[in-house]
Amino acid sequence: MKDRSLSSIEAVVDAHLCTGCGVCAYLSPDTQAMSDVKHIGRRPLPIVGVTGPTTGAAVAACPGRRLEHQPGALEGAPFDGEWGPVLALYECWSTDPDVRHRGSSGGVVSAISAHMVTSGAAVGALQIQASRENPLRNETVLNTTYETIVAAAGSRYAPASPCERLDLVEHAAGPCVVVGKPCDIAATRRAAELRPALAQKVGLTIGIFCAGTPSSAATEKLIRDLDVDPAAVTQVDYRGEGWPGRFRVRTSEGPAGSFSYAEAWGGTLTKNRQWRCLICPDHTGEFADLAIGDPWYREVTDDEPGRSLVVVRTERGREALRAALADGALAGEELPLSRLPESQPNLESTRGAVWGRVLTMRLLGLPTPRFLNMPAFRLWWKLPLRGKLTSTAGTWRRMRARGLWRSELETTGEPT
Ligand SMILES: Cc1cc2nc3c(=O)[nH]c(=O)nc-3n(C[C@H](O)[C@H](O)[C@H](O)COP(=O)(O)OP(=O)(O)OC[C@H]3O[C@@H](n4cnc5c(N)ncnc54)[C@H](O)[C@@H]3O)c2cc1C
Repeated sequence: MKDRSLSSIEAVVDAHLCTGCGVCAYLSPDTQAMSDVKHIGRRPLPIVGVTGPTTGAAVAACPGRRLEHQPGALEGAPFDGEWGPVLALYECWSTDPDVRHRGSSGGVVSAISAHMVTSGAAVGALQIQASRENPLRNETVLNTTYETIVAAAGSRYAPASPCERLDLVEHAAGPCVVVGKPCDIAATRRAAELRPALAQKVGLTIGIFCAGTPSSAATEKLIRDLDVDPAAVTQVDYRGEGWPGRFRVRTSEGPAGSFSYAEAWGGTLTKNRQWRCLICPDHTGEFADLAIGDPWYREVTDDEPGRSLVVVRTERGREALRAALADGALAGEELPLSRLPESQPNLESTRGAVWGRVLTMRLLGLPTPRFLNMPAFRLWWKLPLRGKLTSTAGTWRRMRARGLWRSELETTGEPT
């Protein structure tokens, strides 16, 4: 019988609801450590010798079990609050041509993070980058110089747990930027509410738009599809060097192959996302100061320089963006708010579908996350009949295929 109240971290993982953010490992380091479970994602596993469930702050901050806007937080928000708080919308790019070229979109996440440090507003940026030990995996680092911050440019469409190293932020000499996916940022915000020492050091949060995290096995499959042995790989890039940029693999002999973004994301990565991402209503960093994604409201040609869509969600975010523009770290212009849903129509319909998927899980007696003050029903209602049926009856089929009634870790057959 599943624990429907999700009262422990183990129950969240068991119910396939863990996002892999790592906040439980930060808040409860004596009981949990993050590990990569190849066919699923990063998961908190009990430290050897620890018995009994992990509860308390780790559970209270867990974004897998609960996401919540404070009552009134969306009052007056555009789009009836369905895109979270939105104060303004911009299209920008880094004025450093190298950063713009290497960034996933316009290198704006890197440019703002670096500007916060070079201007003295922050002492570092907590970021994800390719692991120095294993190029197929990711690591979390607190980068403190322009060079190291911009070297982490580029999205990594593979499991990453930025929150497991929030201790680096808590113990930093001054305020820091925290970069992460929407779930990572929601967890950071909640952890900061629970731990004042962390709150004092979180100077700015930047959420990247996210349609879901694929497993490490998906990256390995792409590499094998290029006829390359994963063990021989020295570098993997998922995007960048063009917009949207190609999935590229290098070995010690040089470039070993590539796929277009559409082939990599549409063909393999998207099919190997963890279950929790398929029932996530927040794909656009609603809990961040700034949320950044792709301005896909128009056709993009492969060789045009990248641009990023920037959603200003708080006054603190507005100030950081304004300063980066004023000092010339960024160039760009304000857009009408309507460009937001036009840029991400798939994310809008996904949010509607999520409402149907969660309802189906609930009706079938499975534990579900609580999403409070995150309106989605109207988007579900707007779906065509086929979309409504897929999000409910179709979900039942997907749930069976995923083995949602079994413990998530049991479904992999992997040693943990
Ligand atoms: C799994 C995933 C799914 C995404 N889905 C969408 C989508 O549906 N629509 C959309 O518009 N954009 C999506 N993005 C975001 C997009 O790829 C860009 O990150 C975003 O447009 C910002 O680009 P940039 O050039 O300004 O950032 P850059 O300057 O390239 O900086 C990217 C930053 O993101 C951090 N980062 C990279 N990978 C991860 C990760 N896995 N977890 C946490 N932090 C990370 C890096 O440390 C770096 O600081 C997704 C990204 C990821 C990782």
